[in-house]
Parts: sequence; C-alpha cells; structure tokens
Amino acid sequence: MKYRPLSIPLLLLGFLLSTAGCQAQSCGNELMEGEEGKQTERRTNNGKGDNSMFPIQKDDETWKKELTDEQYRVLRQKGTEVAFSGRYYTWEEKGVYRCAGCGSELFASNTKYHSGSGWPSFYAPLDEAKVIVKKDDSHGMLREEVLCAQCGGHLGHVFEDGPKPTGLRYCINSVSLDFEKK
Ligand SMILES: [Zn+2]
Repeated sequence: MKYRPLSIPLLLLGFLLSTAGCQAQSCGNELMEGEEGKQTERRTNNGKGDNSMFPIQKDDETWKKELTDEQYRVLRQKGTEVAFSGRYYTWEEKGVYRCAGCGSELFASNTKYHSGSGWPSFYAPLDEAKVIVKKDDSHGMLREEVLCAQCGGHLGHVFEDGPKPTGLRYCINSVSLDFEKK
C-alpha cells in the first residue's frame, strides 16, 4: 500500500499558499455570506457598515453576471487569489491598472514594484481618492482593506512595509485589476 500520488499534498500546499499571503487568512473568506450583517459592521469603524457609500450600486445578481466567477469571489466576496498565480504578479508593461469591476483607474505601472509577496504590489494608488482604505480587524489582526472607491470592490490590503517614498505596500489581487497599456 503506497501513498497515492501527489494529489493530496499538492492540494494542501495550494491551500496553504492561498491563505498564507496577504498576511494569512485575513484577506477574509469568512465574509462570503453576502449578508451585510454583523461582520461588515464590525469591520467598519466609521459607522458606515454597508455599501451605500459607493457611487456604483448593483445587486448581487448583476455582479454575478458581469464578473467571472473568480472576479466575483475576490471583488464582491473579499476572497484572495492564490499567491503567485495572478496574471499581473510579474507584469512589467507600462500603463494603468483599472478596477475589474467598474473600470476606474486605480494604479499605475510606475508605482508597481517586486515585493516578493506573490501578489502585484504598488507603493501608491494613482490618486488617493481612487481607493478607500478600511480598518479590518478580522482574524485577530489589525489590517487595512483596500476597496475601489467607485464600486466598493475588494482589491486587497495595504501594509506599512513598502518602499520609499510612501513606505506602503498595496497588496492587490490581479483578478481585481484590468491592465491597459499606455
Ligand atoms: Zn471599481
């Protein structure tokens, strides 16, 4: 009786990689239920626990139709793509990265850098007003979630271990972005 091939260890490895990255479990899969309930309120310290603050409002069914399954999982359910798997992790072209949910220009290639994290990393957004940073104290960690200011799509998290001049690392899921060459 030998071990079966690598399938189980590989699955396990994949799972570990997928949760290890943007600082662990945190990129928040337990928020999937989609009810704007307690968890969202708990995560928001400014009293605005729902999505009504975002100019672009669509119901869940509409988002599901417009997005791929993976985009929906990350943007609307705060999922995280598997580390090192994303399209833009090693992307080098010059241009802008738009929100995959609404098309808003979020990041530019000139602030992209190699963080080694497994996700595209930027030291600044194109404009501070393009993103919203929200406190995220889930999983016993205090982190900051990055959302598209237009549609409220989940982009990733921001950490204070980035390079100069900001010292910030915007750790963003490739699947939340659409690159446009410029
Ligand atoms: Zn958006």
